[in-house]
Amino acid sequence: MDVLKKVPVREQDPKVRAANFDEVCLGYNMEEAQQEASRCIKCKNARCMTGCPVSINIPGFIKEIQDGNIEAAANIIAESSALPAVCGRVCPQESQCEGVCIRGIKGEPISIGKLERFVADWSRENGFVPKKAEKMNGKKVAVIGSGPAGLTCAGDLAKLGYEVTIFEALHQPGGVLLYGIPEFRLPKDTVVKTEIENVKKLGVKIECNVVIGKSVTIDQLLSEEGFSAVFIGSGAGLPKFMGIPGENANGVFSANEFLTRNNLMKAFRDDHDTPIARGKKVAVVGGGNVAMDAARTALRLGAETYIVYRRSEAELPARVEEVHHAKEEGVIFKLLTNPKEILVDENGWVKGMVCVEMELGEPDASGRRRPVEKAGSEFTIDVDTVIMSLGTSPNPLISSTTEGLEVNKWKCIVADETNGKTTKEGVYAGGDAVTGAATVILAMEAGKAGAKGIHEYLSNK
Ligand SMILES: Cc1cc2nc3c(=O)[nH]c(=O)nc-3n(C[C@H](O)[C@H](O)[C@H](O)COP(=O)(O)OP(=O)(O)OC[C@H]3O[C@@H](n4cnc5c(N)ncnc54)[C@H](O)[C@@H]3O)c2cc1C
Ligand code: SF4
Repeated sequence: MDVLKKVPVREQDPKVRAANFDEVCLGYNMEEAQQEASRCIKCKNARCMTGCPVSINIPGFIKEIQDGNIEAAANIIAESSALPAVCGRVCPQESQCEGVCIRGIKGEPISIGKLERFVADWSRENGFVPKKAEKMNGKKVAVIGSGPAGLTCAGDLAKLGYEVTIFEALHQPGGVLLYGIPEFRLPKDTVVKTEIENVKKLGVKIECNVVIGKSVTIDQLLSEEGFSAVFIGSGAGLPKFMGIPGENANGVFSANEFLTRNNLMKAFRDDHDTPIARGKKVAVVGGGNVAMDAARTALRLGAETYIVYRRSEAELPARVEEVHHAKEEGVIFKLLTNPKEILVDENGWVKGMVCVEMELGEPDASGRRRPVEKAGSEFTIDVDTVIMSLGTSPNPLISSTTEGLEVNKWKCIVADETNGKTTKEGVYAGGDAVTGAATVILAMEAGKAGAKGIHEYLSNK
């Protein structure tokens, strides 16, 4: 074994997986996990832990894997994270724990994400249940939204003895984990649902089909429903569009709608009758993780699929692994390309997309080189479906129905990042609703901060 290299992880063959929705990565088995764990030098001042937003005791759990004590490893992870099987699959470890791992200086960092996933999958297969609070404290807290921010906040508060109810607008809990990230990266019935069940086993109640701001307001939760505090983890689910001609045509979707139809409403399965655009040629506009997910989904539904992105490969915001997988599966990248107009046929359906070539100019406010159009370089891509994946912002429903709750110009809730405190007493917030679209682990970090803030507030009341 070469200690400078990661133990390779098994994956489905790209040609096979391009036509199915089964998970791409197959994970480590016991032997592979123990081999990989043995590469970790269990640093005293573990840099990997400083890179983990929820401060998992990484050398601690890796040592237990090496010694074959997987339940002990699971207990260590459960102290800091309620969603290890999710994080082990979708966290950008390359820019967090693995990005600062000491092993990465001379060789490849430890596969911390794959080891976390191994422990979480073992836990599921062996019926591991996290420990419940020994005593309840009689106080009720409402959590709005059942994505990673809400689930984490609820789980942490339940462990402290609070009676927690999550209110979720959709008919199933999980937020983006369920409706956004596709099955082939994050299986729903096994991985996501089991981790949500584990949060419920801590005593958390989840009420679905409750739209806060419509069914009931935050003020009513506090004054009429007996809740002493509220955490808002309502995410950033409102899609953005480009505002170009033809964008209202039939066959143009937001990535959110397209992915929700497929993931939550199971359009890809023959036993479900959810309609979805099975275009022959699909352009996905954007270069983030969401764009990669939409493109790889369209490809699996049978389309020739393009990613259309206005900057170059170096600026693609998606994880390197996702770009690599998309390319392996056959997604075609049209980089330094920007849409100008969607062409529409006489029946109102998409029949093509006019684009322009771009080049990179001086850096802009984000530090990335600004894309500028190349004069006279317009061309048309022959597509029948366009999926816009240009980012999302928080839905203003909650802020517009809650007096005293301040939002910024992007409609993100203003909250203290150390404890989630908002401008309204007893109301805390975190995750995408505060930061705008970000990541699972940052939403979990904010959920933890919110639980800490609420506990401090209610302990002093
Ligand atoms: C397609 C896609 C792929 C992604 N891939 C990755 C990835 O690989 N890695 C990664 O780290 N991150 C990824 N992300 C980002 C990540 O999923 C989000 O940052 C994260 O889910 C945010 O968590 P959250 O709890 O703040 O919000 P969400 O997960 O959005 O959950 C919010 C929940 O609140 C509910 N809600 C909203 N309004 C109300 C209301 N008024 N009343 C009741 N409930 C309400 C929503 O229905 C939703 O269930 C991806 C996002 C998308 C869309
Ligand atoms: S920094 Fe790397 S080698 Fe050191 S404890 Fe963390 S994972 Fe192990």
